[in-house]
Amino acid sequence: MMKQKHRARDTPKTTGKRALTIVLGFVCLPAGYYAIKAAHSSSADIYETRSNDSVMAISFAEAQLFPAKRQAYLDELLQGVDLPYCEAVLYDPDGSQILSYRDLQLAPGKNSPHQNAIFLEREESLFQGGQYHIYTPSIINRRGKGEHTAIFVGQKAFTSDLFQNDEDLKAALVAHEQRHVLQYAQGMNVDQSVPPPFIDHLLEGRITLKTVYDIAELDAQQQELMRIKQGEFRVSDSYLTSRRNEFYQNKSRLETMLSFSSPAQAAYIKAALRSYGTTAF
Ligand SMILES: [Zn+2]
Repeated sequence: MMKQKHRARDTPKTTGKRALTIVLGFVCLPAGYYAIKAAHSSSADIYETRSNDSVMAISFAEAQLFPAKRQAYLDELLQGVDLPYCEAVLYDPDGSQILSYRDLQLAPGKNSPHQNAIFLEREESLFQGGQYHIYTPSIINRRGKGEHTAIFVGQKAFTSDLFQNDEDLKAALVAHEQRHVLQYAQGMNVDQSVPPPFIDHLLEGRITLKTVYDIAELDAQQQELMRIKQGEFRVSDSYLTSRRNEFYQNKSRLETMLSFSSPAQAAYIKAALRSYGTTAF
């Protein structure tokens, strides 16, 4: 089948209204982000329809070899895929895109320094030099408020051996990362397993940030594995094995954490294991 030419579409934007987070020592470069976004406007909420049996104009192997082709490759890979609440899927070779994106979300007055400090805990060094696979930024105290976010693809998506082909990467973006986009926009039901407001459990140390991440990850891992199991993505054996291992490792880490948790964290983990940890893969 021939690839269809894509049309320009309006992209809902919430940037600027967003609160939040992160990254000390960064220069805010919003213009850079928007230049990239404009240049890749096809990486937006809705991609054009493309038949499943289309042949990619740029192969995964070619995108691995030629960094300059990676954004075009991602755009083509995601044609025809609906990604609600996802502003863009952006190749980020040096980490500058995700970091300037997060600087844009810093909204003085919306979060206390204490809240920001919590969000800073894990994030800062992960993206330097673009040495990450894929990441979907979110702000925990903005979860469930209909916010949009973007999916950032680092160098390792093309240079490590995790992804072997188009379908591996597509499963990661469309099933796993898009699940993180929805967690952010729509919230997670398990957050209701502890008395609201959820953020207070973090700020007051009853639930750790790591547990929050691990639980969001368990949900995304389960979603991706279910959709692979249903035949939506024809992933490589090595990719499936590694995703399956990550799921079971995460699940057993959470089970172990139960013994070292406050009552609130134990309730939260139990709810997560019931919701996301019962399917066998
Ligand atoms: Zn994830």
